[in-house]
Amino acid sequence: MGKIIPPLRGVHDILPGHAAAWQHLERVVREVFAGYGYEEFRVPVIEQTQLFKRSIGDFTDIVEKEMFSFVDQGEDHITLRPEATAGIVRAVISNGLLRENRLRLWCMGPMFRRERPQAGRFRQFHQIDAEAFGFAGPDIDAEMILLSARLLRRLGLGRLKLLVNSLGTPASRAVYREQLTAYFGAHAAALDEDSKRRLIGNPLRILDSKNPDMQRIVAGAPRLLESLDAESKAHFEMLCAHLKGEGIEYHVEPHLVRGLDYYTRTVFEWTTDALGSQSTVCAGGRYDGLVEQLGGVATPGIGWAMGQERIVMLLEAQGLAAERDRPQVYLVLVGERAQVPGLHLAELLRDAWPDLKLQSNLGGGSFKTQFKRADKSGAQFAIVLGDDEVTRGVAAIKDLRRDVAQEACPMDRISERLGTLLGLKPGNAE
Ligand code: ATP
Ligand code: MG
Repeated sequence: MGKIIPPLRGVHDILPGHAAAWQHLERVVREVFAGYGYEEFRVPVIEQTQLFKRSIGDFTDIVEKEMFSFVDQGEDHITLRPEATAGIVRAVISNGLLRENRLRLWCMGPMFRRERPQAGRFRQFHQIDAEAFGFAGPDIDAEMILLSARLLRRLGLGRLKLLVNSLGTPASRAVYREQLTAYFGAHAAALDEDSKRRLIGNPLRILDSKNPDMQRIVAGAPRLLESLDAESKAHFEMLCAHLKGEGIEYHVEPHLVRGLDYYTRTVFEWTTDALGSQSTVCAGGRYDGLVEQLGGVATPGIGWAMGQERIVMLLEAQGLAAERDRPQVYLVLVGERAQVPGLHLAELLRDAWPDLKLQSNLGGGSFKTQFKRADKSGAQFAIVLGDDEVTRGVAAIKDLRRDVAQEACPMDRISERLGTLLGLKPGNAE
C-alpha cells in the first residue's frame, strides 16, 4: 500500500456533512446582495506578487509573513490571493470598468495566508467580499454596513457587536502618525519586536497588535478621532446618523485600525464573543486612494470581507446550521430483472419532477440490506421493485417514517402517486 499523504497544515476539507451550512450561507449571501443591486464578480486566485505588496502595505502581517508566494517555471512572481480587494481593484482597472463610474460588486471564494493555524484561523479560508467604487459620500458606508447587518440578521446570528472608527484622510493621518511615533517612542523599551519595527515603518500598525502587553500600551495612545479633519468628521457623523436612524447599535472604537494600509476614513468590524480569540467575523472600510495607487483614475472605494469559516462555526454553535440534504425517495431494486426497469423508472420520475430528490440502490443487496440503506439515507419513502413486482407490473411504495400499509401501485401510476404524496411541483418536459 502507498503511504498516506496528509493535507497541508492549516488547510481543511469541508466535509459533505457540513455542506448544507455552507450552501445555506451562500444562498442567503446571493439573495441579500441581489436585494441591494450588487453584482457578482469572479476574479482569479493568483495575481502578480507586486499587486499585493503595493496595495496591502509593507508593515502588515500579510505582506511581512503571511503570503504564499512563488516563482513559476516562466519566472513570474505569483502570490495566492490573501484577500480579495486588491484583485478586484486590479480587475476593475484592467477591464476598464471604472468608465461606468459607479460599481457595486461582490465576490466569494478561497483566500490564502501562511499564518499559525488555530481554531478559526486557517491557511486556506473563504471570504464573502463586498466592494463599491465611485461613491464618495457616507451613504454608501452606511449601505455597506446595513447590508452586512441584514446578512447576519437573516442568518439568525446573535451576540454580534459593531465597532466603527474613522482613520481620516492621509493628511490628518500624517499628523496623527507623528503623535503616535512620539507616544510609542516613549514606550520603546516595552515594545515587542513587531511593534519596534512598525514604530519606524508604520506606527498605526501597532494599534492592531494582538499581543496583550501591546494592547495595554495601546489603550493609552492618542486617538485620531480627536484630531480628525473637518470633512472626515462630518463624514463620520453622517454615517453614525444613518446607523442610528436604522436602529443599528454601534460602538465607536477609537483605536480600531484595519490590518491593511489602504484604508481611509470609515473602518468597521463585526465581532463576537462566541468564538474565543478569533473574534472578528467581518471587517471593512473605505479606501479612497487605492485605485489611483494601483494605476487607475482616482476613484473612491469601500468594501468589507466576511470570514465564511467563522460564520459557519457560529451557525453551528448557535444551532442555526441548515440540515444535511437528504433524498426524499430511496429506490430499492432487488434481483436481476428489476435493474433495467428500475433505473428507467428513476429517470422517468426525475423527468416528471425536477425537484425530486431520489437515490437509487446500486450494487445489489438483499431486501433487508437495501431497507437498512433506505432508512439510513433519511428518505421518507422507498419505492420497491423486485422480481415479483416486475412480473405484476407494479412497484410498491412504502412510507419509511410512518406506520402505514405499503401500497402496490401500477407502474404507469407511480409518478402521479409520488407527486401527490410529496407535494411535488411538475417541471416543463425536457
Ligand atoms: P485578524 O486581525 O483576525 O488577523 P485580519 O485583519 O487579518 O484579521 P481581514 O483581512 O480583515 O482580517 O479579513 C476579514 C475576515 O476574514 C476576518 O474578520 C476573518 O473573519 C476572516 N479571516 C481572516 N484571516 C483568516 C484566517 N486565517 N482564517 C479564517 N478566517 C480568516
Ligand atoms: Mg490577520
